[in-house]
Amino acid sequence: MRFLRRLPGVKDIQQHRGAEIIVVGAGAAGQMAAVAAGGAGRRVLLLEQMTQPGLKILASGGGRCNLTNLASPEEVAEAFGREGRFVLPALQTLHPGGLRGLMNSLGISTVADEQGRVFPADQKAMTLQAALRRKLKELGVELQCSRPVERLWIENGRLRGVELRDSQRLTGRCVILTCGGRSYAKLGGTGGGYDLAQQAGHTITPLSPALVPLVTRRRWCAKLAGVSLAGARVWLEARGQSKVGRTGDVLFTHRGVSGPAVLDISGDVAELLARGAEAPLKLQCIAGMDAKDWMGRFDEWRKAQGRRGIAKLLQQHLPARLCEVFREQANLPPQTPAAELPREAARRLTDLLGGAELTVTATEGFEAAFVTRGGVRLRDVNPETLQSRLQPGLFLAGELLNLDGPTGGYNLRWAFASGLHAGQSAANFARSSLK
Ligand SMILES: Cc1cc2nc3c(=O)[nH]c(=O)nc-3n(C[C@H](O)[C@H](O)[C@H](O)COP(=O)(O)OP(=O)(O)OC[C@H]3O[C@@H](n4cnc5c(N)ncnc54)[C@H](O)[C@@H]3O)c2cc1C
Repeated sequence: MRFLRRLPGVKDIQQHRGAEIIVVGAGAAGQMAAVAAGGAGRRVLLLEQMTQPGLKILASGGGRCNLTNLASPEEVAEAFGREGRFVLPALQTLHPGGLRGLMNSLGISTVADEQGRVFPADQKAMTLQAALRRKLKELGVELQCSRPVERLWIENGRLRGVELRDSQRLTGRCVILTCGGRSYAKLGGTGGGYDLAQQAGHTITPLSPALVPLVTRRRWCAKLAGVSLAGARVWLEARGQSKVGRTGDVLFTHRGVSGPAVLDISGDVAELLARGAEAPLKLQCIAGMDAKDWMGRFDEWRKAQGRRGIAKLLQQHLPARLCEVFREQANLPPQTPAAELPREAARRLTDLLGGAELTVTATEGFEAAFVTRGGVRLRDVNPETLQSRLQPGLFLAGELLNLDGPTGGYNLRWAFASGLHAGQSAANFARSSLK
C-alpha cells in the first residue's frame, strides 16, 4: 500500500484492501446487492454519497415502507408496462418465499393489507433499514457514506473500479451501479448514476417525473384542497391513451390533484406535457358512473325524493365540499330541490360528476416525484444477470434502469429484487474472474 503511493502516476490510487465488488449507491437496490454479494463470500465495498444509507427506504410509504406486494411476477411485469418483461428473471429467481421470505430471513416479519400491499409488521421503515444495516455489518460489507462516485475508472476498455469526487481511485473486479433516479434530490435522487452509466456507453432514455402530484388549470380544485375521493377514476382524453385510466383514491391539493390513482397516471401525463401539450385529464367521481348514469340517478331522485335539495342528495355518495363546489360550477342556487333541477343545469352537473375535465398544466416536478420515468436503456443490459452488454464487469439495478412501476410496493420490490440479482451475478462474475 505505502509503496504504491510512492510510484509515479498511481499516487491517487487507493488499493482498497481486497474489495472485489464496489456497489455505488446504498439505497434499496444497493444494500440488497451488497447483502447478496457479501453473502456469497465476496468482499464488498458499498459507497454512498449521502451521510447515511437508505434515505428513500426511510421515507417510503410515509415512513411505513410499502416494501413489496402480493402480485405474481407476471402481474408485476405487466404493471411495469411496455418493457416490463425485463423484470421477470430477477423476480423469478428470488428466494422461494419471495421478497417476504427474504426479509424474514433478515429478521423482518411483514404483514399484507387488504390491497395486497406488504409492510414491515411494526409498520416502521426504520426497522427494515436497521435490519439491512445489521446484515451488512454481519457480512463484513464495508459501508462508506459521504463518498460520492464521480466516474467509472475504465482503462483500455477494462473496468478497473471507480473514481471519487476527490479524484481518489478505488479498485474492484466489478462495479454495481445502484444510484437510483433523479427524484427527491434531498433523499439522494441526484441523477448522478446516469452520467456513470453513460460513461460506459449506455444510453439514457428521456427522463420525466412519475408518481408525482399534478397542477391543474381548474381553479375549483384548490377550493377542494384536502378533500379525498375513494374509488374515483382518472384517464387521459388524448390520442394513444387508454380510456380505462386508473381507479383509486384521488386527493385534491392547493394546486391540483394527487392520490394513488392520479400518481399512477402521472407518468403518462408528464410524458404528454414534455411534448408541449396540456394534458386533458378527466375525473370520474365514482368509477363506472358516467354522465348518463348520473342523469338516470337524478331522474330517480326527481321522482322519489323531489323535495330534497340536489346537493344534499349528492352528499349521500360524495364529500359535502365537492357537492357544494360542483353545485356552484353548475350555476345552481343552493337548496335547489331535485324535482326543480333544470335540464341544462343537470347536464352541467352530470358532466362534472361523470367526467370533469381537469386540464393539467404541469407536474410538481422531480422534487415531488416518488420515481423517475426513463433511465438506462434496457436493451443494453442482460436481464438474466443485470450485467451491462457494453462493459464487462458492470452491473446495474434498481430505479436507475428505464423502469417505473405504479404505487403499491412495485418500485421497492423491483429495487430489492434487482439488487439481489445483480449482487448474485456480480459475485459469480468476480469468482469466475479469479480462476
Ligand atoms: C417519498 C418517497 C416514498 C416512496 N414510497 C415508496 C413505497 O412505499 N413503496 C415503493 O415501492 N416505492 C416507494 N418509493 C419509490 C422507491 O423508494 C424507489 O423506487 C426506490 O427506493 C429505488 O431504489 P434504488 O435503490 O434504485 O434507488 P435509491 O433508493 O434512490 O438509492 C440510490 C442511492 O444511490 C446514492 N447515489 C446516487 N448517486 C451516487 C453516487 N454518484 N455516488 C454514491 N452514491 C450515489 C443515493 O444517494 C441513494 O442513496 C418512494 C419514493 C419516495 C421518494
